[in-house]
Amino acid sequence: MSPPIYRGRFAPSPTGPLHFGSLIAAVGSYLEAKSHNGEWLVRMEDLDPPRSMPGADQAIIKTLDAYGFEWHGEIAFQSQRFELYTEALEQLRKQGQVYNCDCSRKAIIQRCGQGQYGAIYDGHCRSIDQQEGATRIQVQGRIQYADRLQGDIKQDLEKDIGDFHLLRRDGFYAYHIGVVVDDALQGITDIVRGFDLLDSTPRQIYLQQQLGYVTPSYAHLPLALKPDGQKLSKQNLATALDDDNSVPALWEALAFLGQQPPLELQRESLEELWSWATENWNFRSIPKTEGIETHVL
Ligand SMILES: [Zn+2]
Repeated sequence: MSPPIYRGRFAPSPTGPLHFGSLIAAVGSYLEAKSHNGEWLVRMEDLDPPRSMPGADQAIIKTLDAYGFEWHGEIAFQSQRFELYTEALEQLRKQGQVYNCDCSRKAIIQRCGQGQYGAIYDGHCRSIDQQEGATRIQVQGRIQYADRLQGDIKQDLEKDIGDFHLLRRDGFYAYHIGVVVDDALQGITDIVRGFDLLDSTPRQIYLQQQLGYVTPSYAHLPLALKPDGQKLSKQNLATALDDDNSVPALWEALAFLGQQPPLELQRESLEELWSWATENWNFRSIPKTEGIETHVL
């Protein structure tokens, strides 16, 4: 059987239950995959055990099920895939692209300049043969890509970011390596996710290039903002989705994504709403903006 032309995914972190903001990313990636007759995978990004909330992974799966999402195959758990990240890191080590960095967070903040994405690591440990610490990748040059929603995105990794870490000093893998390895090994062709991850995309493309992976296509959806302009997040205690009342939230998510679902569908079944959404999904109607304020919490 030939591989699918389109394979998308939804990759929540189990730091808390799903909220309206997560629903938008799930709905956007799901309907875009369906409209291409593609597959849609779910991956649990539980790379960071200290930040994971016990039971949140199962609660997320239950919510996705209650909202009528149908995913392809088994759900992958990053916590069970550390060997794959170790292999990728070893490949980069053999290529001479990573090094250990023993600088404390405090030292980096004091010594290095602040950019718009945080402290820009100055490469201090590049030429020192540190035995311990975090593992960083040496960056070079600029990354440019065309986001399907946000247009041309450019980032100068050396000037704006600096060498970033792949393995933390506490021994846990960093977000970028997990996501890049998994997207490649799971054959993901199209990534549709929230605008908050736009800034990390050039780092991920750089890693794909160094590891010899194909770069998927990217689309970054607008974020749901609270009326005060803050993004909805587990950290600011966005209300968990109600598993027993999925239709109103799904309707709101479709409206947020510019799909104009008919009002009467608010009183219909979940199946009716999904069937309308699948038939009428229009990617071009999604607002091309960073965030939209909403009263739906
Ligand atoms: Zn260092």
